[in-house]
Amino acid sequence: MASVEPLLIVGASHAGTQLAAAAREQGFDAPIVLLGDEPHIPYQRPPLSKGLLTGKTAVDQLALRGPDFYREQGIDLRLGTRVTGLDLAARRLSLADGSTLAFGWLALATGARCRALPMPGADLQGVHQLRTLDDALAVAAALGGSSQACVIGGGFIGLEVAAALRSAGAAVTVVESQPRLLARTFPASMSDYVAAAHRQRGVTLELGCGVRALHGQQGRVEAVELTDGRCIDCDLVVLGIGVQPNSELAEQAGIACDNGVLVDALGRTSAPKVLAIGDVANMALPAVPGGPQRVRLESIQAANDGARAAATLLVDRPQPLDAVPWFWSEQHELKFQMAGLPAAGDQTVLRGDMASDKYTLFYLRDGAVRAAHTVNRPAEHMLARKLIAVGARIAPELLADPSVDLKSFSTPPRPAG
Ligand code: ADP
Repeated sequence: MASVEPLLIVGASHAGTQLAAAAREQGFDAPIVLLGDEPHIPYQRPPLSKGLLTGKTAVDQLALRGPDFYREQGIDLRLGTRVTGLDLAARRLSLADGSTLAFGWLALATGARCRALPMPGADLQGVHQLRTLDDALAVAAALGGSSQACVIGGGFIGLEVAAALRSAGAAVTVVESQPRLLARTFPASMSDYVAAAHRQRGVTLELGCGVRALHGQQGRVEAVELTDGRCIDCDLVVLGIGVQPNSELAEQAGIACDNGVLVDALGRTSAPKVLAIGDVANMALPAVPGGPQRVRLESIQAANDGARAAATLLVDRPQPLDAVPWFWSEQHELKFQMAGLPAAGDQTVLRGDMASDKYTLFYLRDGAVRAAHTVNRPAEHMLARKLIAVGARIAPELLADPSVDLKSFSTPPRPAG
């Protein structure tokens, strides 16, 4: 029989909400309390740096589930509620209002927060970060009065925002401290492709260039000073310089952490009946030859699949996560889809032509497909996920040949006889 002690979920975004839903789907019948410090009903984050800025997506399209869902499922959704402490011995959480809540199971789905830019002028008006709905609404409002925007950071968030601001008519400069864009994810060939795509659409790129200070008058930002001394005039700055996990609650309670809360493929932390899922979780991966052993994924897929795996523990039918990681990005009219986890030393094979804006870069390791980065080829991305899942072995010349149908490689070979 399921425990009657409540499941407390800290963090009401993709991972936390999915865990509550999956727990109910799988038959967990104890009380569930979903605690979130934001004032909004749990919402989708991907459109915040895309459609919400361009006006293609309205705020009322963002809710992950309608308000009835929580009531009907017996999920006690408490918004605007900040958890301030975790006492593992007493199995209690403390809340900012001074009250405490006891738990049977606890799930930390506290996500990540934007890294701060530690320099003069970072607190000027007109300087924004982009993580929450309120952040995105503030950028969207500022955009109306902006003619010159500067985006600091050339990762996915920075580049999505740059594309959205550009399509809204602003002059946009992206400042990236690394010599190339998206260096954390892409090899040089794809970074160069992305840089050319943004430049062709009128985005100015300053690569290999740090920021020294932000300057303004009367409290409003007017320029970004680069480390080489040049200044970029701007009336809007958006920071996209990465995130850090919100793991303080776990750390203070003595739970093992290292770049997030350390968990296994079921989301179990070092403390009994305490789970961590989503962006805050640094997860041990099933062994893939030459692949990473742990990863802290910042994706909707990892949040959802990690939450579903964690829910299986609650009903005592544990089924570890073994999904192929994937995520996507939209910049201008380009749809990027990333599957699997590339590793240093992988052989890359291009299928298609970068100049046509439709191609896939496959990553082979030990002769097997381990990852694929796709541009404007959604069907090939779906197929690549299957190829990665079965560890398909395909000769590079066949992979590169557009006349070869890759579907036949997506089912594991049948045993003879
Ligand atoms: P996200 O997924 O939020 O875009 P990433 O970590 O993938 O985060 O990308 C952040 C980018 O910001 C990286 O390319 C990094 O090199 C860049 N960056 C970090 N700090 C600075 C800085 N001070 N100035 C310019 N670029 C920065």
